[in-house]
Amino acid sequence: MTQMNYTDNVIRVAIIANGKYQSKRVASKLFAVFRDDPDFYLTKKKPDVVISIGGDGMLLSAFHMYENELDSVRFVGIHTGHLGFYTDYRDFEIDKLIENLREDKGDKVSYPILKIVLTLENGRIIKARALNEATIKRIEKTMVADVYINNVRFESFRGDGMSISTPTGSTAYNKSLGGAILHPTIEALQLTEISSLNNLVFRTVGSSLIIPKEEMIEIVPQRTGIYTVSVDNKTYNLKNVVKAQYYIDSEKIHFVSTPSHTSFWERVQDAFIGELDS
Ligand code: NAD
Repeated sequence: MTQMNYTDNVIRVAIIANGKYQSKRVASKLFAVFRDDPDFYLTKKKPDVVISIGGDGMLLSAFHMYENELDSVRFVGIHTGHLGFYTDYRDFEIDKLIENLREDKGDKVSYPILKIVLTLENGRIIKARALNEATIKRIEKTMVADVYINNVRFESFRGDGMSISTPTGSTAYNKSLGGAILHPTIEALQLTEISSLNNLVFRTVGSSLIIPKEEMIEIVPQRTGIYTVSVDNKTYNLKNVVKAQYYIDSEKIHFVSTPSHTSFWERVQDAFIGELDS
């Protein structure tokens, strides 16, 4: 756990909520409290703390709204459903959140994010950041691509596509694809196949790969056509992707450190296992 430095004692707070009735209700309550409190300043511009109200999807949207200010922003997630992976508070714990923010000293918990660099045939370069994962797929026909790990040609992939996930994204799409769950303090990327073709002629490794932070993943499509590229909750159709490179970003996402923070494994158990028989 490390600390953010404030230049004054006022915390600049942005509140972002999804359209659900319960989220709007929570947002109204927080607005009312912070508006009359001299320790807080409500603003969407250059906030110190971004409070996202909704679920993991809402936190992903909040991340992308402030992805160019990651060095100065900390996030807090409030879940208006059951406990999420990026949400430390439930909607009935708002008083606890307000109390914790009043006593806040700038403590933060930080997790790695993904940097994506796409090169198109026309020379255009597209850069993006992902909190969960990025995928690349060829929808119209089988995707054929060379996969390089740290500039070493590792395999020739045939199938629907590939996913590259962050540690915190490992419990999302990556898990549905059969990838491993990675503790978010492990700074690594996970490369997971999407429906690879494996027979006597074509061969891929078949397991998801955990790639350390110093190494880069490069996917080089071998056929022209439209590639469907996703970055978290956004999808783009791009013509003739020449190469797609994936790194751990030099920035991280920072969350406000919460005294009652639920452990990662408890969240995994809560989301995927549920109550155990006694
Ligand atoms: P969405 O509405 O389709 O919801 C996807 C589900 O994933 C929600 O239940 C959400 O709470 C959950 N989720 C999001 N991030 C998570 C995380 N890090 N760990 C565990 N669960 C998580 O879309 P959304 O809410 O905008 O979320 C976008 C995400 O959906 C993508 O980043 C991708 O990971 C995931 N997704 C999953 C599949 C799949 O599992 N087959 C397919 C497409 C996208």
